[in-house]
Amino acid sequence: MRILVVEDEVKIARFVQRGLKEEGYTVDVAFDGQHGYEYATTETYDAIILDIMLPGIDGVTLCSKLREEKNDTPILMLTARDAVQDKVRGLDAGADDYLTKPFAFEEFLARIRALLRKKGENITSTLQVGDLVMDLLTHRVSRAGKSIELTAKEFIVLEYLMRNVGKVVTRTMLAEHGWDINFDSFTNVIDVYINYLRNKIDKPFKNKLIHTIRGRGYIIRE
Ligand code: CA
Repeated sequence: MRILVVEDEVKIARFVQRGLKEEGYTVDVAFDGQHGYEYATTETYDAIILDIMLPGIDGVTLCSKLREEKNDTPILMLTARDAVQDKVRGLDAGADDYLTKPFAFEEFLARIRALLRKKGENITSTLQVGDLVMDLLTHRVSRAGKSIELTAKEFIVLEYLMRNVGKVVTRTMLAEHGWDINFDSFTNVIDVYINYLRNKIDKPFKNKLIHTIRGRGYIIRE
């Protein structure tokens, strides 16, 4: 599960990011509205945490913009004060829920879980490339109907490849998304994990899905 946090208060953003990561979510952080918009429109998220008071584009405007563009990612608004007006504006703009700062992290997590459940009921939560299917809620992966057991890391790497189906994914991108580390020497680890994945996903089957793009990275496609 991948979550975008748009929050200009660095302390809160880092606190939320760390907490979500500990719960096993993959987290991206944007510190202003413009970057938030760019992340939200170039990556696919399972939920967006959106502060209302932001430099550049404010949270309410950003939320309406995304909804106008048919982006239906669940959005949890953060409001700085207990202002009814802010909540109404946020919900009118298409937010699914709101939380007033300061908040208890446990409540925050519960709201996120509720949003993700709601999303699971409304829209499909599976990724598919050919006969390879990944269920993002149950973490089940199968190919041609046969169940495939993956470790947590293998799942993260495969999920990232599948979310970017047909696009070249570099080792650096995979390292940043799976490990939050971006120094070059680490990228050898990526090759090791791609190998594990190939053994499980491609080796037993005739058609290979994971391809090496020499000098650039990897791509998953039919
Ligand atoms: Ca703010």
